[in-house]
Amino acid sequence: MLDSSNLPRWLEVLLREKFFNACIIHEEAKKNEKNVYCLDCCQSICPHCLSPHRSHRLLQIRRYVYHDVIRLGDAEKLMDCAFVQSYTTNSAKVVFLNQRPQTRPFRGSWQHLYYLRQGPARPISLLFSLLQASTYTEN
Ligand SMILES: [Zn+2]
Ligand SMILES: [Zn+2]
Repeated sequence: MLDSSNLPRWLEVLLREKFFNACIIHEEAKKNEKNVYCLDCCQSICPHCLSPHRSHRLLQIRRYVYHDVIRLGDAEKLMDCAFVQSYTTNSAKVVFLNQRPQTRPFRGSWQHLYYLRQGPARPISLLFSLLQASTYTEN
């Protein structure tokens, strides 16, 4: 059985992290939704949490039809996106962090599919395999 310890930690956490919840530390503040992901700390943070992370690698998480997405341009800085399935929103090309909208819930083990399709040598392409895999199970 394969386990997720083979993934880079930042990616593993990113894919299971919940965004756009209120920040517990800044409960009282306005605009306290956690919409930034710190790749160095592997945690989601709100705009008020930013200061100690200024020098870290940050990823802006966006919302598109109730799904967490990142800009394709941002994703490209982190991984090989040659085969990533992106979607065009009004303003930008985006990549879904989980399954794309209007599909049934993602079935099966993504780790399994990831290894099946990519082999352990290309962990960074997880997003690609995830998206491909969800497309796959539909047909
Ligand atoms: Zn905060
Ligand atoms: Zn940080």
